[in-house]
Amino acid sequence: MKAKELGKSYLVVFCKGCQAGFRVQEAPVPDGAKVQIAQPQTLKCPRCAHRAEYQPKEIRIAKFQKEGLGKRRGAAS
Ligand SMILES: [Zn+2]
Repeated sequence: MKAKELGKSYLVVFCKGCQAGFRVQEAPVPDGAKVQIAQPQTLKCPRCAHRAEYQPKEIRIAKFQKEGLGKRRGAAS
């Protein structure tokens, strides 16, 4: 997978195992682009290898910053 670029936006989900954000696809989302996700996606977390199905509403656009892609709001840890 290509390295993330600072300041670019990516489609991400928050892992149902470790709560970390990770990319759904490696290409960044162009600024202002509308992204439609029609299908649930089965994704594997690169950090903890937890595999789960994610609904389109769970997939969001996050800007990659120094702190990373962030964590789910309210997550423990
Ligand atoms: Zn994980």
